[in-house]
Amino acid sequence: MKGIGVSSGIGIGTVLLVEEHSLDYTPKPVTDTAAEKKRFSEAVASFCENTQAQAETLRKTAGDKEAEIMLGHISIIQDPFLIGEIERLIDGGQCAEASLEAMCDMFIQIFSAAEDDVTKQRAADVRDVKSGVLSILLGIREVKLSDVPAGTIICVKELTPSMIAEINKENVVGILTETGSTTSHSAILARVLEIPAVMSVPDLMKTAKNEEKAVIDGSKGDVILSPDEAQLAVYAEKREKLLQERRELEKFRGKATVSADGTVYELVCNIGKPEDAAKALQFDGEGVGLFRTEFLFMDKTAVPSEEEQFNEYKKAAMILKGKPLIIRTLDIGGDKDIPYLGLAKEENPFMGFRAIRYCLKNRDLFRIQLRAILRASAFGNVSIMFPLITCVEEVRKGKALVEELKAELSSEGIEYDKDIKVGIMTETAASGIIADYLAKEADFFSIGTNDLTGYTMAADRGNSDVSYLYSALQPSVLRMIRSIITAAGEQNIPVGMCGEAAADPMMIPLLISFGLTEFSVSAPSVLRVRKCIASWTKQRADEVAEKVMQLATEQEVREYLSSVT
Ligand code: PEP
Ligand code: MG
Repeated sequence: MKGIGVSSGIGIGTVLLVEEHSLDYTPKPVTDTAAEKKRFSEAVASFCENTQAQAETLRKTAGDKEAEIMLGHISIIQDPFLIGEIERLIDGGQCAEASLEAMCDMFIQIFSAAEDDVTKQRAADVRDVKSGVLSILLGIREVKLSDVPAGTIICVKELTPSMIAEINKENVVGILTETGSTTSHSAILARVLEIPAVMSVPDLMKTAKNEEKAVIDGSKGDVILSPDEAQLAVYAEKREKLLQERRELEKFRGKATVSADGTVYELVCNIGKPEDAAKALQFDGEGVGLFRTEFLFMDKTAVPSEEEQFNEYKKAAMILKGKPLIIRTLDIGGDKDIPYLGLAKEENPFMGFRAIRYCLKNRDLFRIQLRAILRASAFGNVSIMFPLITCVEEVRKGKALVEELKAELSSEGIEYDKDIKVGIMTETAASGIIADYLAKEADFFSIGTNDLTGYTMAADRGNSDVSYLYSALQPSVLRMIRSIITAAGEQNIPVGMCGEAAADPMMIPLLISFGLTEFSVSAPSVLRVRKCIASWTKQRADEVAEKVMQLATEQEVREYLSSVT
């Protein structure tokens, strides 16, 4: 069977089907509404108590952010509007079960209809809360996932965060579900707990049988039920190899990032939330090379205030304790919508009114964010980075505003880092072509290959018909990257890469040869990238790059690089 691999690793174990309890009941009209409301509020109190305990367990096994997901469930059920409406239905004579269900279903319907994943995820959270409180009202005992035997592969229709919070990771070697995907909270939790998991396996609950053996590959999404001896042997070997690789990588923990001939590089992480800064350190990142602030805006229903943003940026700076933190200003538009900003629908959103263009025209919003970043710079090693730069004026205007706000803060007696660096993302074809001019304006560059590839190749990564063109190994993209790095070198400014290509083992020798100084990657890639950098000398990387830069097609580049890396 095949599903979506959401948490890597090989799991070999015994299936445990976690059947859903029937939450069916016959609605009964109530006459003693006060007693019914009391029954409801006791169920809510008991739900909150259980959830609080699960959150505390998660805080220890996974981390603060994960615990917050559970605590979010408490806020949902304690929402005064929700409680008020449920009590109103009870007052009207409906039983607690029916009242709870009616209100939760209404929210589930609203949230599920949303376009964005974050709001859709809320529907799953409300569903989780509804079944939690409903099972308490109905007196149903949940299966205790904390007590499953060693070597268990949990199979469940929908894995809720509250289920995963109970899991004892010593005993669970894999998770299979019929619904869910990479971005669901449960998938995130599975990755944090390092339990291999495959989601959205069609007909899982009908096909899998209790007690049968199973093998899962959490990277590829493969599932084999009742594997034969030969399959078991193959997967046992793969698992051993993976574990061996992980042990091998651990040797690079706590070490500097150094090439084989002694050049030191900066190896930092990309994050989306302040709490991820802790994860960056946990995975041995040396700081943060890209904080995508748009996620702070996406999670809200209105523009976060200066104070709110300041607290978030300060939180990240404090976690990093002086290690670098590059905060990218709002990068919205394109595929990143923020409904409350009311961005107009555009014919061509990727070439439209987005990122720095939007911020420079919406100065109030930009001022709030820049003031918040400047204030946070008093608490760590903070830099500012502008996205989607295409011309010199954009950098000058952005920097002028930073200067204006610095003066404003000084006159208000508010502290900030007077030497704060202001850099830019080089992620458009234009920025690559005029990188020499831009290098005279910016304090540093960070190459965003995700967009640079798209804008150079005029190929939308989301369009499968043109995805064959979307590759950072295209000769045109490689020339862009080389000229950006060369331009930075000539002006002596640091140049990093925060696009996905920075973690690609085929790209790394080229980046070393061109003269990149900083690699910014997802936290779980840190040790792998450090190991890869350690395997190259400048001389050997130069030989490889020289050859690559004479190859005219992506296919030749790829074939050659895979033969030498
Ligand atoms: C990029 O474009 O490479 C990048 C890092 O930014 P984002 O993926 O957020 O657009
Ligand atoms: Mg980008």
